Amino acid sequence: MRYKEIVEEIYESVIGEENSGRLATYIPELAKVNPDNFGVHLSTIDGENVGVGDCCQRFSIQSIAKVLSLSLAYKKLGERIWGRLGVEPSGTSFNSLVQLEADKGIPRNPFINAGALVICDILITLLDNPKEDFLTYIRDLSDNPTLDYSSVIAESEQSVGYRNIALCHFIKSFGNIKNDPMEVLDFYFNLCSLEMDGRELTHTFLFLANGGRKLDGTEILNGSQTKRINALMQTCGFYDESGEFSFKVGLPGKSGVGGGIIAIHPNRYTIGVWSPKLNDKGNSYRGIKFLERFTTHTKLSIF
Ligand code: GLN
Repeated sequence: MRYKEIVEEIYESVIGEENSGRLATYIPELAKVNPDNFGVHLSTIDGENVGVGDCCQRFSIQSIAKVLSLSLAYKKLGERIWGRLGVEPSGTSFNSLVQLEADKGIPRNPFINAGALVICDILITLLDNPKEDFLTYIRDLSDNPTLDYSSVIAESEQSVGYRNIALCHFIKSFGNIKNDPMEVLDFYFNLCSLEMDGRELTHTFLFLANGGRKLDGTEILNGSQTKRINALMQTCGFYDESGEFSFKVGLPGKSGVGGGIIAIHPNRYTIGVWSPKLNDKGNSYRGIKFLERFTTHTKLSIF
């Protein structure tokens, strides 16, 4: 496959068109990002790498990190994890509170904020030093000791994190948060503040395209767990736009309000796109447009 030419060609076509949407201004620091940043990076399991535009500039990966926290919690807890949260698309926005009352504090899936908060709670119970141990996990996964949280972003979000604070306390009232909600929230805001550039992002996620193994053969998840995480990305990775992303792009993926998207083609590649302007569902406008053209042009999707 001529990945380089195809990525460059689609990049040129998308950058030449309007850049619709809005920055995630509800997090003050994210409102300061240049809205015209646009980068794409692709890594194949055969070791090929293609990058274009702002693919070497780090950005806030936000909810993309929820896949990594789920991976660690799933590895440690096994199938018991599904007693604490579901595996169904929510059909509601990422920060919605509405279903939790009827569902008695059991979040629909691990990628909406409610589910990610429960995963943070699980990790706090399982890890000695949650923030440090999680960072070590990410650095080992990516073979990159420079990856880090952004305290500026984490504090910025914490200062206005009223919905997440409400969500966490609400879940606690049903008994599905075991630890101190303020500790859970602190871990959650740090998790969301992780920064990566395009290449770091696609490298970190390659294990999900490679049957759960890093390219050096180290097992991160077993085959069944890997299949399930990819299935959850396919059905829940874009909140109430998951069906549309599946329809247009046809790959498992995960978005973040920093404007990043990671998509996985099992047994082939990972592709990351970063463009900070978001559509009404909180997903990168150009990111989805790029990926739709990419899978259409290459005829490479899982369907
Ligand atoms: N930190 C963000 C929040 O909780 C993550 C949301 C997202 O990236 N969709 O609002």
